[in-house]
Amino acid sequence: MNVVTMNVMRHFAAAAMLCVALAVPRFAHAADPCQLEISGNDQMQYDKPSLSVPASCTQVTLTLHHTGKLPREAMGHNWVLVGAADFNAVANSGMGAGLANEYVQPGDQRVLAHTRTIGGGQTTSVTFPSSLLKPGGDYRYLCTFPGHNAIMRGTFRFG
Ligand code: ZN
Repeated sequence: MNVVTMNVMRHFAAAAMLCVALAVPRFAHAADPCQLEISGNDQMQYDKPSLSVPASCTQVTLTLHHTGKLPREAMGHNWVLVGAADFNAVANSGMGAGLANEYVQPGDQRVLAHTRTIGGGQTTSVTFPSSLLKPGGDYRYLCTFPGHNAIMRGTFRFG
């Protein structure tokens, strides 16, 4: 059995399990609702004030684009997902962690998911299991580059 066949079979097995669990078929193509995109620019802004994924997503992928030109040392952006109550604490500890740590304190359990910190023209993504999230929970995302969270923030909805 070659690798392609195995991958296809694994895909069908995963899809079949999901259908049994939810009794709702998931369509992998055409605007997958489990695949999110957001952009940051040189004006220290995200292009979206909120993001949401349906509860049927077992995994979520967030892709961050930096549409500006400035380097990450000057106008770095990341995307960090937290519970609403942890916003300020994660923002503060992230700043202190520095660029070498992507502005996220290593091992911070309050961080549910995060990307790398990127500069102008770059793209990065993160995939995380939705088992970290509670349907209807109150979540936020932010950029933890120093000073950015005041503006670069949004509401994240699951389910
Ligand atoms: Zn930023």
